Amino acid sequence: MSLKYKIVPVTPFEQNCTLLWCTETHKAAVVDPGGDLDRILAAAEDEGVILEKILLTHAHIDHAGGTAELAKSAGLPIEGPHKDDNFWIQGLAMQAQMFGFPAPEVFTPNRWLEDGDTVTVGNETLEVLHTPGHTPGHVVFFHRGSKLAQVGDVLFNGSIGRTDFPKGDYNTLIHSIREKLFPLGDDVSFICGHGPMSTFGQERATNPFVSDHRG
Ligand SMILES: [Zn+2]
Ligand SMILES: [Zn+2]
Repeated sequence: MSLKYKIVPVTPFEQNCTLLWCTETHKAAVVDPGGDLDRILAAAEDEGVILEKILLTHAHIDHAGGTAELAKSAGLPIEGPHKDDNFWIQGLAMQAQMFGFPAPEVFTPNRWLEDGDTVTVGNETLEVLHTPGHTPGHVVFFHRGSKLAQVGDVLFNGSIGRTDFPKGDYNTLIHSIREKLFPLGDDVSFICGHGPMSTFGQERATNPFVSDHRG
């Protein structure tokens, strides 16, 4: 009994949409369906999993742009992000225009997430951490059993999320990484919104923005 994952890069921003599934039930969550739904659905079919829900880390268009369409076409509930990202959901058309994406439909999550909540994928449970800074309503999903986190655009391999968007804040982001993510353990692997995976231990040792050597 465990959790498996497959990363499916989507949109021109190569956003790491992720299928997470329970090996017992083969039920899967789609984390951050930013677009390219045909690719996500093909990956689900390849892996033989049954889509159960959509999970969102935050509402930037490369992460949330395909949400309404996928929810409607596959009949999936939407969980996340935290309600402080609602202004980004309401602004999806503006984001689409800004980045040259097709204009997506606005949606209302079936469930807003709070720090300390849990979400399920099949028989597996993931913990929810509220990690503002990149966006005010950003959340991270953590599966303690397999020491795996899906951190969206909070932290990257060798970098951190941008904080120059509306309601972004650098110090809040650093606090989220150091006080919320790093205490989960050096041996935790994380999938980030863009680029290759890493571990919290590696970032504590080498990340120029948040390493232990930076004080
Ligand atoms: Zn983002
Ligand atoms: Zn992103």
